[in-house]
Parts: sequence; C-alpha cells; structure tokens
Amino acid sequence: MSGLPEIRNYIDGRLQAPAGDQWLDVYEPATGHVYGRVADSNEVDLEQAVAAARQAQPAWRTAGAEARAGWLNALATEVENRIETLAQAESRDTGKPLALARSMDIPRVAANLRFFAAAATQFASEAHPMGDAGVNFTLREPHGVVGCISPWNLPLYLMTWKIAPALAAGNCVIAKPSELAPASASLFAEICIAAGLPPGVLNILHGHGPGIGQAIVEAPAIRALSFTGGTRTGARIATTVAPSFKKLSLELGGKNPSIVFADCDFERTIEGVLRAAFANQGQVCMCGSRILVERSLYARFRDALVARTGALEVGDPLAPQTDQGALISAAHRDKVLGYLDLARQEGGRVLCGGEAVRPDAARCRDGWFVSPALIEDLAPACRSNQEEIFGPVATLLPFDDEDDAVALANDVPYGLAASVWGRDIGRCHRVAARVEAGMVWVNCWMVRDLRTPLGGTKHSGVGREGGFEAMRFFTEPKNVCVSYE
Ligand code: NAD
Repeated sequence: MSGLPEIRNYIDGRLQAPAGDQWLDVYEPATGHVYGRVADSNEVDLEQAVAAARQAQPAWRTAGAEARAGWLNALATEVENRIETLAQAESRDTGKPLALARSMDIPRVAANLRFFAAAATQFASEAHPMGDAGVNFTLREPHGVVGCISPWNLPLYLMTWKIAPALAAGNCVIAKPSELAPASASLFAEICIAAGLPPGVLNILHGHGPGIGQAIVEAPAIRALSFTGGTRTGARIATTVAPSFKKLSLELGGKNPSIVFADCDFERTIEGVLRAAFANQGQVCMCGSRILVERSLYARFRDALVARTGALEVGDPLAPQTDQGALISAAHRDKVLGYLDLARQEGGRVLCGGEAVRPDAARCRDGWFVSPALIEDLAPACRSNQEEIFGPVATLLPFDDEDDAVALANDVPYGLAASVWGRDIGRCHRVAARVEAGMVWVNCWMVRDLRTPLGGTKHSGVGREGGFEAMRFFTEPKNVCVSYE
C-alpha cells in the first residue's frame, strides 16, 4: 500500500485492484502534486471484464427498454444527489474551476443519463410495406459487448455521453476513462453499486491508453468501439480495427473558427467569442481557437477582446472568482507554451497572456497554469493556425468578405465546429451552409440540444453521437422480410 487514495477498477459489480498490481500516479493539476494512484489494467482485467459483460448481456438485452430506462434514471438520481462530491473530484483531477464542474459538467452527466433513458423508450423499428407482396421490418439489435474510451477534458460528461446510449440500446459496456482524470469514473462505479445496477452491465477499466486502451480496441469480443480523443490516437485506432470490421465512432480534435461579421451585436459577440476561446482553459474540442473578424471591425474587436481576456482571473480552481484554472498536466502546459514560442517564431504577435502563471494561492505554487493568450499577425497556413493546441490560446485573423471568411474557415485539416456572428441572418445561413464542420452555431456557442448530431468531418472524426444517431451506432440493423404469399 502506498498510503495514497486508490482508484480501482469496476468489474462484475465490484471495485477491485488491477490484476497485475500496477498503478499510475494521479496528479492534481492545480498543485502539481500526486494525490492518488489509479489502476493500470492489463489483459487479465480485460478478460474478467469481458467475461462479466458477456454474462450480463442476455438478461440486460431482454430486460426491455423500460427497465433499462429505469436503471439509467436511477443512476441519474444518484448523480444528482452527489453533484458536489463529483464536481470536487473533477476539479481536483482536471484543474477546471469547481464552479464550472458544479454548474455544467456534472449536471450534464445526469442529463445524459436521463436523456438516453427517454431515448431507450422512444427508439423504434421501421417497417417498409411492399403492398400485397409482404412487409419488411428492421430490428435494431444491440451489438453485445461494446467499448467506450473517453478523454480527460470533460471526464464523466463524455464517458456517460457514450455509455448511456450503449446501455440504453441493450449493450453491456467496457469503459476506459482517461488515466489523467479517473476519479469521477470511480465515484460513478460507486453510484452503480449503490443503485444496484446488475453486475457486469457496466465495467470500468483504468489505465494507460497504449496499454489497456489498445487492448480494448483489439479485443475480438468487443464488437463496437466509441472513442473520443486526439486525432492521432483516432487514426491509430482506425488502423488497428480496420481488418476486424469493428463498428467505430471517432470524435476527434478541432481547430474551430469563430467568424465575426462587422454587423454583429458587438457586446454579445465579444462575450460569446471569449467563452468559445477560453472555456475550460480552451480544453473543449469545440473551442473557437481561430477568431476570424471582418477587417472593418478588426481593430475595435481585437482591442476589446484583449481587454476582456486580460481581465480573466487565472487562479485556484476552488476559488469562486476563478475564471481559468490549471492545465491538465505539466507536459500539456509545456506543449501549450511550446506553441506560443512557435507562434512567435512564425511571426505572431502575442497580444496578451501566454505565460506560465503562479497564482496567489499558496497551494497552487507548483500548479500548471497558463494565462489566456491571443495572437495576431500569423499567416493562415502556419502551424499555429493549423494544428490543434487544446489550451488557452486563440489566434486572430482579419477577413475581407464572405468568400474570404469561408475560405479561411475551411483552410484547416479539421472540421468539427464553427460559430458565425452577425445580424444579417441570410449571410449567417449562407456561411453556415458553406463551412466544413459537423456543427455550426449562429450568434451562440455550445448551446446544446442532446437530440442533435454531434461530431465532425475531415480529421475531426467519423460518425455522429447524440440522440438517435447514438442509438443507431450502438445497434445493428437487421431487416426481416415477410412474404404474404
Ligand atoms: P488522447 O487521444 O490522448 O486520449 C483519449 C483516450 O484514449 C484516453 O482514455 C487515453 O487513455 C486513450 N488512449 C490513448 N491511446 C490509446 C490507444 N492507442 N488505444 C486506445 N486508447 C488509447 O486524447 P486526450 O488528450 O485525452 O483528449 C484530448 C483530445 O480529445 C483533443 O484532441 C480533443 O479535441 C479531443 N476531444 C474531442 C471531442 C469530440 O467530441 N470531438 C471531445 C473532447 C475531446
């Protein structure tokens, strides 16, 4: 025993230590110190989890949609009863402001569970009558055992965004949260136990991505895989599973444009673009990290945005006034600072921020904080404008007209999200239609309706999550044709 809190696996309804007794350190980004250790699972843990899931699946499948909805709602109630505990765990693991975890991340966990509880009961088969000849009906059958691999930036929010539809559709699940932010998944396991979820229906394996993550990807018994994370990891997973024809959903990175026209509602747009750039320290896949502004408004918009960005409070995630917490790891902080050096080399002018910060709070002296940065004067094609930084860094680019804005917006390998800001609603519609992205917000950002498809084009992924898209992904259609003759 190390004396540190231990985050164990959840297999067959029980919390258990990893079979190989291997553990990884878990850090608190705000302090830069280790606070616990998490299981680093191996093939033996995976075999146990797969066996438990296989055993549980027939009963889970035949229990019916109403019963599965009941379980998901029961889990949601338990989450709602523990919002503060879960929010504290996520803030400690990720460095995000506690207020954000409390108001956004954890309520969304409960919303995911309730939404897919309802979806389970509303998801229906299609029928295609063939006149006098007969009828087709298309069953939607669960795959059996599925894998759900999620990242650290919105830990339980994104894990439940996958496991809720998977379970609602009648699958049993092997989930792997990020090893960088595993605590809330472990609390969720405790919730499953408290709610009496049948053993084996959900199994949570912790550990390194290239180790247990890769093993989950390769496991023949896992028939479908839903992954959210980096584009490079997604490419590796796609290559691995291609010969096995496993069903695959990939939600990957982005380099999303916020497109600002001169006729926008100025205050509302500054507010929205600021939030889009720096929410969760810029560590949301939908963050608007390229701010494109019509030239006639550029200088005024830039100056106002710099003033607002400079006023953001970087500090202890536990302090109520903190706008910007810590970055997830020392390595990630160094990567972000490395991009700022690169941007300077590429001719960029850093208008504000971009420095390693030591907040006033004594406990945060060794934490991984970076002040939010805005950069201008960079060529659209340079690396800082093309590669995902996934931190509190946004670039500013002027554009001349609608065509120019669309060309700049689309001139990246990614195609996840975009926002368009302006009062000429016809033009906003035209731009939304021409932008290469899976999601476009007009005069808003990150307004979510869980029924809508979520995902990206180009290097931002394959497939869509959300609503019935997710229910379809987690089921296999089987058409049955009945002859009347
Ligand atoms: P990551 O790719 O490093 O890791 C994501 C998950 O995959 C983790 O659980 C990790 O352990 C696991 N993993 C790593 N290597 C693996 C492998 N070889 N096989 C199987 N699993 C493996 O990503 P991250 O740093 O945790 O997350 C940040 C990235 O996620 C960013 O690029 C961000 O844009 C993206 N993201 C996308 C969305 C979306 O909806 N499109 C949402 C959130 C985050």
